[in-house]
Amino acid sequence: MSLFKNLFFKPLSTQLTVTSNNGFHLRPVAQFSALAKSFSCHITATFKDKTVDTKSVSTLLSLSLEQGDTFTLVTKGKKAEIALEKLQILFETLMHHDKEIHQIEKTAYSYEGSVLQGEIISEGIAIASSYKYNVQEIQHKSNMHFKEALQKSIDELEVLHATQKDNDHADIYLAQKELLSSLGEKSHTFAELEQSVEEESNKLLGTKLDSKRSDYQDILQRIKKHLGLEIKVTFPDTPFILLCNDLLPSEIDQLQQTKVAGVVLKETSMNSHTAILLRASGICSLIADTQDLVENETVILDTHAGVIVQDPTSHDLQKAREQLKKDHVQRSHSATKRFEPAVTQTGRHIKVFANAADISTARAAKEEGAEGIGLLRSEFLFKDVKPSLETQQKAYKEIFELFDDITVRTLDVGGDKALPYIQIPAENNPFLGVRGVRLFYTHPELLEEQLHAIFLAAENKRVKIMFPMISSVEEFIQTKSFAQSVAKKYQLDISHLHFGIMIEVPSVLFLLEAFNDVVDFYSIGTNDLTQYLFAIERTHPLLKADALSPAVFSAIEIILNKATKPVSICGELAANKNAIPKLLNLGIETLSVSPKSIAQTKEEIRYV
Ligand code: PEP
Ligand code: MG
Repeated sequence: MSLFKNLFFKPLSTQLTVTSNNGFHLRPVAQFSALAKSFSCHITATFKDKTVDTKSVSTLLSLSLEQGDTFTLVTKGKKAEIALEKLQILFETLMHHDKEIHQIEKTAYSYEGSVLQGEIISEGIAIASSYKYNVQEIQHKSNMHFKEALQKSIDELEVLHATQKDNDHADIYLAQKELLSSLGEKSHTFAELEQSVEEESNKLLGTKLDSKRSDYQDILQRIKKHLGLEIKVTFPDTPFILLCNDLLPSEIDQLQQTKVAGVVLKETSMNSHTAILLRASGICSLIADTQDLVENETVILDTHAGVIVQDPTSHDLQKAREQLKKDHVQRSHSATKRFEPAVTQTGRHIKVFANAADISTARAAKEEGAEGIGLLRSEFLFKDVKPSLETQQKAYKEIFELFDDITVRTLDVGGDKALPYIQIPAENNPFLGVRGVRLFYTHPELLEEQLHAIFLAAENKRVKIMFPMISSVEEFIQTKSFAQSVAKKYQLDISHLHFGIMIEVPSVLFLLEAFNDVVDFYSIGTNDLTQYLFAIERTHPLLKADALSPAVFSAIEIILNKATKPVSICGELAANKNAIPKLLNLGIETLSVSPKSIAQTKEEIRYV
């Protein structure tokens, strides 16, 4: 019946381009599929003559979409228009937030022993005995049926995802859950599931998503466990460097309970979930072929240099021990000193603030030693549905209570940032269109409600309110007047609040004298400023502006020379160790960085 009905619907379509250099991989695919499933209409994706159902993680994944690939998304049936729009918005958001894994630069080395080179997953140094992975499978009797084991595994992944929500890698569990649900749905027995897992994972062979095949093995392993299969892995009870072909993502957790000092894998990639979890666990690890390496020999794993030293001399061992000590001192030093102010060699106190997006990142920032919030990206507070005034007020209040100095940015939507409940008409150049503060000309009610909530939450607090994407003085004056009229309408006193702007649009550099008369502060958004200085879209799949270009530093110098109001930096450049000395020399006094970069940023400052 529904198929018959679908014949009368016109198909709608759009083209979507993969911009992340990780490709359209398992985690974003899982989120995309989960949203597609919430619509009853037909939704397909077509790439190179192959059309698949987007509601199944495994089939969508089989398109093996890589950076730069454009596919056609087609929706047909009930609410097809809404489905198309929401999926497009989600896709763009997923691409924007998918972190690129950059290759870690290798340091020089001078070991006397023979050296095996590899690719660095996670930096560090380890001196320990080599140990080859040894697995024993023991089949116990189990009365559990396949469908029950399947459900138990899905529930387990759901719990893992929910309990790790504050961690970057939590989406791995959601992805595995979606994958298992989509493959499990079609299988009646474990053998059937095993066969479809093999078929689907073979489709990824040789593609950029090859390394995600370990997730397929991982979901099988989870079910096998419920069906009575015990996987027995024995680890030494003295420190060891693990050598193996690959590990399943779920095995990293187990590994962390052991005396592991380092890991060398042969068949993984920088983007695999195993590599992501290894990085998150802080275990120094490398990708290298260690097949010819002997077991139970002392080796050095130096993942600063990206090498494993097979037969280290006493001189090599001595050097490695020194580096180990340095790493240890550096880590514990910056971590233990994270609550202390960052003071330069010449005695300047540089304030290190955090960029936060919600209450959990604000709490993490506090725990990491932030002295305030330099940028609250309010657009991420409510990602799915439009929040009520009360919900907004409560969220702001909770965050405001954590710090004395807080800068909250009004909604910065448009360009690469989309919100499902805000409709922006299609534009030829979204980055040059209705973005940031410009949205409020078309949607003033959104700004009114947000400002009202901020004012209520900040009644006793000197919060700073910052407008994004300001390009002219008039724009600022109008927006601030609008804020004042909102306060008047609701009879709220806002005389204690400060109003400032993000410097992201180059025109501001030439208008600073006039801005000085009206704003209370500035914060330089180097991410957007760089994109507009070079006219290179920040999410462009092929082009990349040089974040460390002299042009960027000259722009900052102009701002610091002309501004008579406080200036901070909240773009990514603020945490770049190569940029910090230059920024301090130019006279910057406040840096705002992601919570996890706070301790390290403070430490870099202490050496300037
Ligand atoms: C920036 O543009 O540098 C910035 C901090 O804002 P966002 O990255 O949120 O656009
Ligand atoms: Mg910006």
